Amino acid sequence: MSTWFEELVPCPACGREVRAKLAYCAHVARAPEVRAQVLERSFHRATCACGEVFRARRGVVYTDVDRRQWIQVSLEEERPIWPELEVATGALFERAFTGAPAAAELAEGMRVRLVFGYEELREKLVVWAAALDDAVVECLKLRAIERDPSLAATPLVVERVTGGALVFEPAGREPFTIPAAAVDAAHADMRLPPRFPELFGGRYVALHRLLGPRYRPAPDPPR
Ligand SMILES: [Zn+2]
Repeated sequence: MSTWFEELVPCPACGREVRAKLAYCAHVARAPEVRAQVLERSFHRATCACGEVFRARRGVVYTDVDRRQWIQVSLEEERPIWPELEVATGALFERAFTGAPAAAELAEGMRVRLVFGYEELREKLVVWAAALDDAVVECLKLRAIERDPSLAATPLVVERVTGGALVFEPAGREPFTIPAAAVDAAHADMRLPPRFPELFGGRYVALHRLLGPRYRPAPDPPR
């Protein structure tokens, strides 16, 4: 099955239809360019004749069997229904990876996640590429917000990991860093999973599930 489909998507600036190359099921094993595009922010990018450069807003399932990553990417405006989507994500994964014994083997140790938008997808790839635990990273963000509550109003996504430190570049604010020592200490802190079981047992591993309006416990016990 081909990964890429040509489709017309409306330009958000002028409304003209623009041809874009889209993927609905992005298998990195089949189309390794997907991972690079996500990291360099060119995935689903289109350029309109009016000069506008934009990202086509489509949901996608991102699968990287070699890196044990399976990520359902939903649209940002769908975030309010995350409890339902988290259940659906788990069901979709089960359907994709049950049946044949070979498939069940592939599912072993797979990190299954639900994210909203390509920036959150990118963040997971960045965090995992640095061999960090995304649940611990969310705990570190929580700590940063406790220190500076104004950060709660901004989407906090890790831009990059430099020498073990988390670098954030929130829109309209000063960039800030969580030092490597704090990142290491949090990864060694065995109190975090029992304290935040929602982050360590769910598919939607994001602060929003704690701070947002629709609190839900995690479907699985902490890893
Ligand atoms: Zn345009």
